[in-house]
Amino acid sequence: KAKAAGRAAYVYFDDAMTAQVQNDAELVHDLARALELGQLTLAYQPQIELTTGRLVGVESLLRWQHPQLGGIAPNRFIPLAESRGLMPEIGLWVMAESCRQWQRWQAQGLDVGRVAINVSAVQFKGGRGMESMLETIEGSGVPPSVLEIEFTESAFVDVGNDTLAWIRSLSERGVHFAIDDFGTGYSSLIMLRQLRAHKLKIDREFVKDMMSDPNDAAIVHATVSLAKTLGMTVVAEGIEEAAQADYLLRLGCDVGQGYHFAAPMPADDILARYGGASPSA
Ligand code: C2E
Ligand code: MG
Ligand code: MG
Ligand code: MG
Repeated sequence: KAKAAGRAAYVYFDDAMTAQVQNDAELVHDLARALELGQLTLAYQPQIELTTGRLVGVESLLRWQHPQLGGIAPNRFIPLAESRGLMPEIGLWVMAESCRQWQRWQAQGLDVGRVAINVSAVQFKGGRGMESMLETIEGSGVPPSVLEIEFTESAFVDVGNDTLAWIRSLSERGVHFAIDDFGTGYSSLIMLRQLRAHKLKIDREFVKDMMSDPNDAAIVHATVSLAKTLGMTVVAEGIEEAAQADYLLRLGCDVGQGYHFAAPMPADDILARYGGASPSA
């Protein structure tokens, strides 16, 4: 009996594994054509200066509308795109489209501040990745000083000197760099010093419970102090309540992002909400 159960469990496990693999393979197959079929779009999430309530930037966030499966979460399809070699192309499209959108907003009389773009490790590490990024930015005609590149700490584990050189050259042209999800990866203070990033983004994981968990509060506090000491701007992610925004403001956090202010939304909604003659609050 034990043997049968063991075997049944094994078969079940095996089937589940196979389904997972097929599922991934199907998704990757569809994802490879999603760009040309117009299924990928960008949503933009406002970034708000805590002291004034003003819009100071937007973060571009990829959205995939699958014709049969509906909306697929970035946390599901981006890792697949990264591991199956699709990310360099998708990533360049994100950069190009974000630049085009900035120009549309300009033409509509809306100044959104900076546009922040997430960039994967594979885009940094893959041979001409950074060079293509620079070409895309220069080809767009957008002033590099309105762009910000977000990357996670893990993107910079064993990053090469050539990549650092590209980052420096983008930086010299006015592109800002932000370290995303700070505190969740392999942070190193050497990396912070080496990269001279302009911003630290405190991960939602710490913001979520900071009002009730003294350890999370201490981490948030320390991160704000560290950033300030290094002359960096601090952004808190995942602010869902007014009390969290107040608390972060009192700690000296500069910028907030989260559902309390606004969820990611289509570009036209950004215009409707922050455009026009009315003050952008
Ligand atoms: P991220 O860069 O840390 O982006 C923040 C995520 O938090 C977004 O999830 C956003 O929708 C979500 N969020 C914002 N405010 C709140 C809040 O108040 N509460 C909660 N619960 N969530 C909030 P999203 O859009 O699902 O993206 C997930 C991740 O996928 C991003 O995390 C980023 O790592 C990655 N990603 C998205 N777009 C791109 C892209 O164009 N390129 C790359 N390489 N990665 C991307
Ligand atoms: Mg981000
Ligand atoms: Mg983040
Ligand atoms: Mg994240």
